[in-house]
Amino acid sequence: MANSVLCDLCGRTIPPHAHYVVRIEVFADPKMPNLTAEDVDNLDFQKALAELIDQMKTLSEDDLQDQVYKQFEYRLCRPCQIRFLANPLGKPREQNQGRN
Ligand SMILES: [Zn+2]
Repeated sequence: MANSVLCDLCGRTIPPHAHYVVRIEVFADPKMPNLTAEDVDNLDFQKALAELIDQMKTLSEDDLQDQVYKQFEYRLCRPCQIRFLANPLGKPREQNQGRN
């Protein structure tokens, strides 16, 4: 069973080449914000920069990397693939906690 894989959601063994791959990329919006001259006037760059540097002091390199770009890759069996496609973001999360 060298080529079989385990489903990352339910843990069952999937026959070779019968699994689905889910790739998720999470990254900051790469687009530049459309700032008006008035917006720029209202920004306090020195203050914002100082706050950012303060924040960065408390973060590890991994934390910083996570804020920029994060990629996940999962392998799913067919039933889990169907469930994933029906609700890719796993909504609703908060409401389901503590219930059956
Ligand atoms: Zn599964």
